[in-house]
Amino acid sequence: MANFDYLSPELEQLKKEGRYRPLTVWDSGSGPWMMLNGRKILQMSSNNYLGLTNHPELKKAAIEAIETYGAGSGSVRTITGTLRIHDELEQELAAFKGTEATLVFQSGFTTNQGILGSILGPDDVVISDELNHASIIDGIRLTKAHRKVYAHKDLDQLEQCLKESGNFRSRVVVTDGVFSMDGDIAPLPQIVELAERYDAIVYVDDAHASGVLGRHGKGSTDHFNLHGRVHIQVGTLSKAIGAVGGYMAGSQLLKDYLIHKARSFLFSTSQPPAVAAMGLAAIRVLKSSPELTERLWSNTDYFRTRLNTLGFDTGMSETPIIPIIVGNPAAAMQFSDALLEEGLFAQGIVYPTVAMDKGRVRLIITASHTEDDLNFALDRLERAGKRLGLI
Ligand SMILES: *Cc1c(COP(=O)(O)O)cnc(C)c1O
Repeated sequence: MANFDYLSPELEQLKKEGRYRPLTVWDSGSGPWMMLNGRKILQMSSNNYLGLTNHPELKKAAIEAIETYGAGSGSVRTITGTLRIHDELEQELAAFKGTEATLVFQSGFTTNQGILGSILGPDDVVISDELNHASIIDGIRLTKAHRKVYAHKDLDQLEQCLKESGNFRSRVVVTDGVFSMDGDIAPLPQIVELAERYDAIVYVDDAHASGVLGRHGKGSTDHFNLHGRVHIQVGTLSKAIGAVGGYMAGSQLLKDYLIHKARSFLFSTSQPPAVAAMGLAAIRVLKSSPELTERLWSNTDYFRTRLNTLGFDTGMSETPIIPIIVGNPAAAMQFSDALLEEGLFAQGIVYPTVAMDKGRVRLIITASHTEDDLNFALDRLERAGKRLGLI
C-alpha cells in the first residue's frame, strides 16, 4: 500500500540538526502571560503588538456580528459573500489609509498571492528584496514575470535592476515595510525616489508595520510621509490588528482588476462576519486610542536600550521586533530552551529562515507588557545569557 515513508528522511534530518519542533499548545489566549502545561509563562513572541486580541471593543463587535449575520459568510465575495460588514470594513480602511480604495482578503498571505499572481505577466519584471516574506516569494512564483532579487536594502543593486528593466511592460519593486526577522525598516523614501526615476510601481507589504508605524499605526507610507507615491500597500489584520485578514490599499482601478482577476480572492470564501467586524472595530480603536502605539514604542525603546546595555547584539532592529543574535542554530535553540525553563517564551529562529550563522531568539515587544513584565524578561535574559556565555 502506498504510504509517506519517502518523507521520513527529511524529518530525520531536521531532528539531527535540532530543528524539529512539535507545536507548542497554549492553554490560554494570546497575551503577555500565557498558560503552558500548568505554568504561567511570559511570552515575547506574539504579533499581538497592541493587545487587541482581547480588546473589549473587538469582542463586542464580533459577538454582535454573529448575532446579526451568523457564523460564516456562506460564499465567495463575488457571489453572496460580500455582506454590508465587509463593505464597511473596506470603506473604513480606505479612509484610514488615505487611499482611493481597499480590498480585503482572508489573510495577508493570500493578499500577496492574489495581487502578485494577477498583476504580473510574462512582459513584466518584479524586483524583490532578498529578505522579503515567504508570501511575497510564493506570490511571485505564481507568475510568469521576469524576476530580479536585490541584496537586503541595497539601493545600488536596486538601481542596477531598474536600469536593466527598461524594456518590460511594467516594473514592480516589492519590499516588506518592516522586515519580520530583523525588525528593520525598508528605506522607503529612497526606494520611491528610484522608482519614480525609472517609472516603476512600488509595492509595500506592511504586515509588521500595520498598527505599529506611522500616525495611529497607519503604516510605513504614513511614517515616511509618502502619501500618493506608493502604488500598492498591503496590510494585515492578523498581527497588531488582532483578528485575521489582509488587504490591498491603492487605486479603485486596481481594486476593480483584483475583484476580477485575483484567484485567492475569487475562489475562496470571504471572511466570517465576526472577523470583518473585529477588523473594523480595531481600526476605530487605533484612531481613538493613540496611547496604545505610544506605549508600544516607549516599551520598545526601554527594552532595546537595556538589552544593549547588558551586551546583547540586537542586530538591525529599529522596531518592536528585537532579535538577539546568537550565531549557530543549536546555540540559538539552546538559548530559547533555557529561557523557557526560566519562564520566558522567546522563539528561536534558525536556518533556513535566517542565515546559518545568524541564529537568534526573536522578541516582540507589545503595548500590553507592563514595566514589571519587561524587567522580569530582562532579568531572565541576563541570567540565561550569562549561563550560556552569550554576554
Ligand atoms: C505575517 C506576514 C504576512 C502574512 O500575513 P497573515 O495575515 O498572517 O497571513 C505577509 N507578509 C509579511 C511581511 C508578514 O510578516
